Amino acid sequence: MDTRPPSLEAVTALLDLEEFEVVEAKEDRKARRRDLVLVPRLTVGLCPHCRQISQDRHACHDHQVLDLPMGAYSTHLTIRRSQFHCRHCDKFFTPPLASLAEGTHATERLLARLAELVRHADVAAASGFFGVPEKTLEKCSRAAAGYGSATWRT
Ligand SMILES: [Zn+2]
Repeated sequence: MDTRPPSLEAVTALLDLEEFEVVEAKEDRKARRRDLVLVPRLTVGLCPHCRQISQDRHACHDHQVLDLPMGAYSTHLTIRRSQFHCRHCDKFFTPPLASLAEGTHATERLLARLAELVRHADVAAASGFFGVPEKTLEKCSRAAAGYGSATWRT
């Protein structure tokens, strides 16, 4: 049997977050935790100030995000976000990413799932399901309660 680790292309396809490409994947069998480093595919950004297109990408910052578990593993994403500089109005901006719940440390799909679970169960059960501490989920569930009302922050 082929025991090589899956290729990053395969992990990217499995993850199924179209905005991103997986550039690093690690797993910790004992902790049942998978860590993925993601880079947005986006190479241009639309300036929110003057609506011009910019290709001038600048310093990245890493954003830690929790995603839906895969199998028995919790999924922790590190997202390398880039900032764009707009030459027209000389401002910096970070384009929003549709799959991230802005202002939280969770993906939209995790929040949607969590909101569903919280309606039907409790945070302790959700914590078991996602394999993350209740405290972390409580923060997320507060965000999930306000789901849909979140404003775009960087
Ligand atoms: Zn601009």
